[in-house]
Amino acid sequence: MAIDTNEIRHPVFNQFASDNYAGICPEAWQAMDEANRGFAPSYGDDVWTERACASIREAFEADCQVFFVFNGTAANSLALAALCRSYHSVICHELAHVETDECGAPEFFSNGTKILHIPGPAGKLDLEAVEQAIVRRSDIHYPKPRVLSLTQSTELGTVYTPDEIGTAGELARRYGLRVQMDGARFANAVAALGVSPATITWKAGVDVICLGGAKNGMAIGEAVVFFNRELADEFEYRCKQAGQLASKMRFISAPWIGMLEGGTWLKNAAHANRMAQVLAGELERIPGVRLMSPCQANAVFAEMSAAAAAALRAAGWHFYSFIGTGGARFMSSWQTTEEDVNRLVAAVRAATAQ
Ligand SMILES: *Cc1c(COP(=O)(O)O)cnc(C)c1O
Repeated sequence: MAIDTNEIRHPVFNQFASDNYAGICPEAWQAMDEANRGFAPSYGDDVWTERACASIREAFEADCQVFFVFNGTAANSLALAALCRSYHSVICHELAHVETDECGAPEFFSNGTKILHIPGPAGKLDLEAVEQAIVRRSDIHYPKPRVLSLTQSTELGTVYTPDEIGTAGELARRYGLRVQMDGARFANAVAALGVSPATITWKAGVDVICLGGAKNGMAIGEAVVFFNRELADEFEYRCKQAGQLASKMRFISAPWIGMLEGGTWLKNAAHANRMAQVLAGELERIPGVRLMSPCQANAVFAEMSAAAAAALRAAGWHFYSFIGTGGARFMSSWQTTEEDVNRLVAAVRAATAQ
C-alpha cells in the first residue's frame, strides 16, 4: 500500500492535549543524527554521554551526578527510592504526578515508602500543612517523613517562586528531610522566572531533580540529577535493575547536548509559555469560559460547560479533562504555533456559542 508521506509530514491534528504530543525538535534530532556515525561504546561509556553530563553540569553550575532514564515515572520513582528506606514517607502535593499518575511506581521501587499528599492552592504545596504533616506524629507507628517532593512547574501550570522553593528547602532541612524536584517541565519554570537553574534548585536546597526532556522537545528521556552526590551512591544499579539502563545510551544522551548547548531547552520552553499566555488571554475574553488557575508556564486550565467541552471534542479537538481539579487542560509545546492557538480559540468560541 502506498504511504502518503505528505500526510505523515503535515497531519492536521487539532490538539492541546499534552506537550508530549509534539515531535522531536530539530536540535535534538540533529544531535541524534550526529551521534549516529559509526560505532560507540555501549551503556553510557561513550563521548556523547560524557558531553551531555558536562552540559547538564554547566547548565546547573554544579558538579552534579547525572543519570539518563527513559521516562519521568522512572526518574521520579528511582530518585525517591534512593532517598528513602521502605519505612519512610514522601510528602508531596495531592495533585503531584508521583501520587496521581505513576501507578504506584514510587512505592513499588522503594519497597513500600508511603506517599503522604497534602493540599495547597494552585497546585503548590501549603508549607504550613507540610509542617503539620511532618510534626503530626513522631512515634514508631507512623511512616517517618524523609522527602519533600516539589513539582516545578506544577501540575496546574503554576510556578514556585525562588523564595517559595527556598522556604520549602529550609523547612525540609529543619526536619532532616531531603528535597526532590519533579522537573518534567522545569525548563518552562526557568523560562518563566528568568532565573538561573541553580537559583531554584541546589541553591534553594534541592537535593535531586528529575529533569524533563521529552516534553521539552526530545524523543525520549529524562535526566536524574543529584546535587547531593552522596545520595547517588549505587544509583546506577537501581537504573539497571529497573530496566532503565539503555544499551545504546548515546541516543538517549546526545539529544541533551542539542537541547542544552545552544540554549534550545529554554528557547523551546519560552515559546511554549508564550503560546499558553496568548491562549489564556484569548480564552479569558470568551463568555462562558473561566480560567481555573493562573497561567504561569505552558498550561491553561479552563472551565466551560459540559456541553461546550463536548462540542469542542466533537469538532475534533483533543485535550485532557482529568488532570488536576478538572476542567479542560490545554497544553502548549515547542511545536505549537500561533495559528494553532487561533484555531483553538475560534473552536472554543464556536463551542460555547452553541
Ligand atoms: C509528564 C510528567 C512526568 C513524566 O511522565 P512519564 O510519562 O512517566 O514520562 C512527570 N511529572 C510530571 C509533573 C509530568 O507532567
